[in-house]
Amino acid sequence: MPYETVIGLEVHVQVRTRTKMFCACPNHFGDEPNSNVCPVCLGYPGVLPVPNAEAVRKTIAAGLMLGCKINEFSKFDRKNYYYPDMPKNYQITQFDLPFCLGGAVPLAGKGYSGEPLPDKRIGITRIHLEEDVGKLNHFGKVSGVDFNRAGVPLMEIVSEPDMRSADEAYAYLTALKQVMQYAGISDCDMEKGQLRCDVNISVRPFVQKEFGTKIELKNLNSFRAVHRSILHEITRQTAAVSSGEKLRQETRGWNDPAGETYLMRTKENAHDYRYFPEPDMMPVEHTPEQIAVIRYTLPEVPWVRRERFVTSTASPRTTLTS
Ligand code: ADP
Ligand code: ZN
Ligand code: MG
Repeated sequence: MPYETVIGLEVHVQVRTRTKMFCACPNHFGDEPNSNVCPVCLGYPGVLPVPNAEAVRKTIAAGLMLGCKINEFSKFDRKNYYYPDMPKNYQITQFDLPFCLGGAVPLAGKGYSGEPLPDKRIGITRIHLEEDVGKLNHFGKVSGVDFNRAGVPLMEIVSEPDMRSADEAYAYLTALKQVMQYAGISDCDMEKGQLRCDVNISVRPFVQKEFGTKIELKNLNSFRAVHRSILHEITRQTAAVSSGEKLRQETRGWNDPAGETYLMRTKENAHDYRYFPEPDMMPVEHTPEQIAVIRYTLPEVPWVRRERFVTSTASPRTTLTS
């Protein structure tokens, strides 16, 4: 039986700002560990977060570039969980009222494998703004945590499950990265962890209407790794499903040298994050005029410009005279 692959991506993009999301520490990569820290980003009791206006503006700019609807009324929420890279034991993020909803990225040209891409748009579900967590470093038997990254503004761009191949996922990521760089929203330097991607992937028989069981792939640190891990998962999941196996929802990692995914955890031990509105900050409101001002500062979207150039070459009005 022929199978179809369904892919949705969750992309984290660090926003380029001078300071962190909720404090005045520098947002700067590569400094001496724990040098860009303060009581706010170290989660000391009694401190208050102050949202970074530039990060909010750039998140809305990202939404406008991708054709999203911008929520005039937005707020931050707390996502509660424990992990050593996060000293507050909760992350400030956005739950039900993110800055941006909807939108799309059109695919164009040839894919990574050289095959032409289908003429389609990949839907954006939402873009929300949150704070990055610290970085764990492992030295043999001991581990250290560097909080320089804790509190760096981080956008999460969630796509609809609209991709159907590794090539489409690669092309979507490439287009997304281009837009973020072009509009000055992020440098998207993957070696510095400024763009990080989780892949959600399932397979289903072509005749089936419902989606198959979703597997989440974590820690993919290059677009090539995204492409390779998807090809590997398609083979693995298709083999499992066609042999009658029932897949469970799980999170898998990518072993790049081995070229394989491996089980990290199953959904049974899923978290309950107890989201609730962040009580230390006011909701964020924008008038249509304020949103229009942000729009006014933005460059033309690359695919709109491409379309305009392609159409205008055919038009006699743009014929150049020497
Ligand atoms: P969760 O509640 O586990 O976070 P979501 O429904 O929010 O799941 O989806 C997270 C991501 O997974 C989105 O990018 C979405 O497009 C994608 N996704 C959802 N269901 C599937 C599926 N069956 N196969 C592949 N991707 C999926
Ligand atoms: Zn700080
Ligand atoms: Mg979700």
